[in-house]
Amino acid sequence: MQSFWDVHTHKEFHYKNSIYNVIAGKDSIPDLGFFSIGIHPWYYKESEEFNLIEIVNKAAKNPRCLAIGECGLDKFNGPPLFIQERVFRSQINIAIQQNKPLIIHCVKHYPLLKKIIDEYDFKYIIILHGFNQKTETAKLFVEEKYVFSLGNSLILNNSNSIEILKNYYPHKILFETDNAEILIEHIYEKASQILNVDKNKIDIEVHSKLKTIFADKINLK
Ligand SMILES: [Zn+2]
Repeated sequence: MQSFWDVHTHKEFHYKNSIYNVIAGKDSIPDLGFFSIGIHPWYYKESEEFNLIEIVNKAAKNPRCLAIGECGLDKFNGPPLFIQERVFRSQINIAIQQNKPLIIHCVKHYPLLKKIIDEYDFKYIIILHGFNQKTETAKLFVEEKYVFSLGNSLILNNSNSIEILKNYYPHKILFETDNAEILIEHIYEKASQILNVDKNKIDIEVHSKLKTIFADKINLK
């Protein structure tokens, strides 16, 4: 049995074993399948903040909503940092209230991101999506609750994510397509070549990791 889970995609219900990312205020909740919902730093103005938090709060109660996010901090895009930080904290609180993992978008603010999360007693998994950072940055996230979701960058030779895969497979690794025009199977195939591990074996590892993350929410056999 193959599942090839895609934990972060912007393509609506393209694949049954996927988590479609709803950007609050931009995308609507899909009629089918699992989703995550978050306020993405690129797509809001300060005036929309409270309205968007209400949208996330409401959608988070949907049993098909598996995680809060993508949300986080972006150095190059979005509102001023103090606003991004406030909006991120609101979403951490929603995740805590709703017992849901977080899916993180972070550009050039990993130490600050870690510092903010450390202020909370956050017990759920935190998925660092599109992780393509150097090993030193990855070392900030040794705690078991952090996992790295790797995508398209695995296809590029010499990307940081190749080292992340080698260092942290299988216990901290998930895969995603994000908005890349690529099939999730191809990401698994590439990981298989890098690790020299059969892609079905990788699939089984990811599947069992997801069982532990979403134990009560996805009916995984
Ligand atoms: Zn994304």
